[in-house]
Amino acid sequence: MIVQFGSGRIELVLGDITRQEVDAIVNAANSMLAVGGGVDGAIHDAGGPAILEELQRRYPDGCPTGSAVVTAAGNLAAQYVFHAVGPIWQGGGKKEREQLQSAYETCLALAEKHQCRSLAFPSISTGVYRYPVDLAAEVALRTVALKLESSTPLELVRFVLFDQGTFGCYARVLETMLV
Ligand code: ADP
Repeated sequence: MIVQFGSGRIELVLGDITRQEVDAIVNAANSMLAVGGGVDGAIHDAGGPAILEELQRRYPDGCPTGSAVVTAAGNLAAQYVFHAVGPIWQGGGKKEREQLQSAYETCLALAEKHQCRSLAFPSISTGVYRYPVDLAAEVALRTVALKLESSTPLELVRFVLFDQGTFGCYARVLETMLV
């Protein structure tokens, strides 16, 4: 599914983020920037040890929730990995929405800073961090659409969803944004 917003487009695909040929991919990291499971484990496995070495050297204090840091992408096809720290879902009353939006906004700002034209996101926080997928999709898609409707060098933002249920949720939310 592809939808145009301003001069850019949002694309939804079912797939593996480590295989995307885009300027930057986003990792759903933890605040220690330690290797975890899920998409984080897959990115470190496919990208090789240089990514973790750079994280430890440049960001020894980790990264706060709602923010993101950049590294090179090791063996991956992308040039950069943006390691974004989304919130752990605690019921919705602990500023999770603001933190998730801020994680996406930080990645979009990093993409502009590094002159990326294409960027791929996973569904941040909806795995081990248990953020409800329908609510997370709303935050993710609206934050990205707003950026694409402003003046930005970004031409393509691809959401790479790992399972059919997550893909379906994102597709339903994106459809509601068409009207
Ligand atoms: P978080 O801790 O932020 O919840 P997870 O990695 O546990 O992060 O999950 C985030 C989402 O990424 C989940 O939907 C999970 O299924 C998905 N995911 C796992 N591996 C990959 C991958 N290789 N590519 C894209 N998405 C993935």
